[in-house]
Order: sequence, then structure tokens, then C-alpha cells
Amino acid sequence: MSIIECLEEYSDIYGVADFSKNKDELIETYGEDICKYPYAIAIGHKMIEEIIENIPLTYSNDKLAQEYLDEYFNSHQRVSKIADRIVEEIEKEGYDALVLDVSGKNENLNLKMPFSNKASAHLAGIGWLGKNNLLTTKEFGPRLTWATILTNAPLSEYAGDTMESPCGKCTVCVKACPGKAITDLPDPKKSYSPEKCGEFLMSRKNEGHPVACGMCLYICPFGNEKLNPGDYI
Ligand code: SF4
Ligand code: SF4
Repeated sequence: MSIIECLEEYSDIYGVADFSKNKDELIETYGEDICKYPYAIAIGHKMIEEIIENIPLTYSNDKLAQEYLDEYFNSHQRVSKIADRIVEEIEKEGYDALVLDVSGKNENLNLKMPFSNKASAHLAGIGWLGKNNLLTTKEFGPRLTWATILTNAPLSEYAGDTMESPCGKCTVCVKACPGKAITDLPDPKKSYSPEKCGEFLMSRKNEGHPVACGMCLYICPFGNEKLNPGDYI
């Protein structure tokens, strides 16, 4: 099986970022080591749809909240195994590859700051950062878990370009967020407040509930079969 066949078989969505397109900017942000490998492969894996669909019920049902929290962690385990399988295939073809951990680091790389899955998928052109600061795709919205592989396998023909956010005038996640952590601004660094989101999660914990909230992931019209993105953006 070729690397691309393997990606098509095991991921729900994938993309390739060619670092030569943004080399200077990448080195300035992450340090020289980020370009030890010329490509990043972003691998998206769908979270279990039935569990995501139950998110509106999790605020009054701790069992469903725990189920969502478990799926959040389990989906990371699953996508890590997929990434390991793809690394095996890359190495079989005689190239090098390494997987970044969930926080965007690897002990073999000296990075100024973590290179997140959000960054790799964004550079690969398969998604954008929504107002909720979640990596969002046209196909599945933000209902995905991600892994990133850095590699020297020759993948330039598959490389994409960064995608502009189509959030536009949509305020669905802004209105639905129970922590009032999202505002209607185009730049996710300004629209999403990790502090307010954290405060809401802590309030849930202090009330004795599982520390889970995924309303912004559930409600986005992208990936949500009940809503049509064209009606909101
Ligand atoms: S996780 Fe919940 S509180 Fe945090 S931004 Fe999303 S909807 Fe708001
Ligand atoms: S709900 Fe709307 S504003 Fe929020 S991330 Fe999705 S498309 Fe963007």
C-alpha cells in the first residue's frame, strides 16, 4: 500500500503542508528544527457521531457528559494508532517520519513553541480556525481529532494552501456557548477566550459534574446535519 493509499484507507480526512511555502515564517515562529522535515501530514479522525449528537443533553446528564469526555480521550488514542500505522508505511518506503504528540511536541525536535495539529491542518489547507478556535473542515466541521506526522517522503504534489475562514457573519457558536467564551470577531485569537471557557469548565467541576463541554463542537453548522452552513455564513 502506498503512503497516500494508507492515508485514504485509515484517515477520514488528510492534508499535506509543504513547509517550503512558508519557510521563513515557520522558522521565525517555531525555530530551525521545524524544517528538519519538509512536509507535515495532518490526519483527521472523526469522533463518534452518536456521542457528539448527545452533547446538548450532557449539561443535564452526567453519564452522557462522561461518555463525551471519554470519547474525547479515546479518539486521541485512535488517531495516534492511525498515525503510527502511517509512519510504518512511510518508513517501509525508505523515508523518515515522526509523530508529534497531542501538544505538538516531539523529544527529537527543539521547537520554540509547539507545532499544533491546528497549525499543520491549517497549512495543509484542509480546515480553518473558527470563531470557536476549533479546527473546522467543510466536510465534518470541527467533529474531528487530529494527529500530525512530519516527514521527508516526497509529497509536494499533494500539498495544499491555507484556507480562508468562511465563518463570515455566522454567530451560531457565539450564541450557543454556555460560558460566553466566544465573541463575534474574525480572528480566533481574539474571538475565543480560553480563560472564560476554562472558568465555565471549572464551574461544572465545582458543581460535581464531569469537566466536559462541547457545545461549540456540536453546534457549528459545518458537520451538523441539522443546520445548513449557507444559512449562517
Ligand atoms: S467548550 Fe463550551 S464553554 Fe468552551 S468555548 Fe466551547 S462551548 Fe464555550
Ligand atoms: S459556528 Fe459559525 S462562527 Fe462558529 S466556527 Fe462554526 S461557522 Fe464559524
